[in-house]
Amino acid sequence: MEERRFVEVRERWGRKTNALGVLKSLKAVAEYLVQSRPTTLYPFEKNDLPENFRGVLVYDIEKCIGCGACVLACPNNCLYRRPGPKTEKNKPGIYIAFEPTHCLFCGLCVDACPPVASSLRHSNVVSIVSTKKKIIWEPWEWAAFTKLIEEKGWENDAIDYDRVEHLVKERAEQIKKALEEEAEKGAKK
Ligand code: SF4
Ligand code: SF4
Repeated sequence: MEERRFVEVRERWGRKTNALGVLKSLKAVAEYLVQSRPTTLYPFEKNDLPENFRGVLVYDIEKCIGCGACVLACPNNCLYRRPGPKTEKNKPGIYIAFEPTHCLFCGLCVDACPPVASSLRHSNVVSIVSTKKKIIWEPWEWAAFTKLIEEKGWENDAIDYDRVEHLVKERAEQIKKALEEEAEKGAKK
């Protein structure tokens, strides 16, 4: 008799605790549904980047005076001098190539670039992803990437370089041609 009563009480208590557990779970689910999400639905939503965010380095080729200070400042040897069209008498016709896959995002090159040029800055492109182990942008390619960020709205995003490489190459051709034409005009003067 005593044993039967014990089993009844245990079953009743078990049902009660199960029901409580279900209610607690439902409450937790309801709370989760109404609270604001701690994560963003990337790539549909973008994060607010902090001011002075150090994204992929960009290059204003028209402003560069070819001094090479950035090349000397880079601790990871990812900037290189390259000869190119001499567009002005006071410019050496030296431009800068960049290896974005080796960049540390340290910003030492930006600090080294003389204020008279200010041709380097960090964009808010978060990163570049590629199946290639190494990417080297010739100066016109780097300048093309810089222009395409604004033209294509690549801000605040990670760029799949394999998908956009053809755009960069096309734009680079235009930039190089424009520099050559400018240099030609200067030579005729
Ligand atoms: S940010 Fe740093 S690592 Fe990258 S190119 Fe500039 S100096 Fe080199
Ligand atoms: S430091 Fe600036 S101006 Fe000088 S070569 Fe580098 S990018 Fe050009």
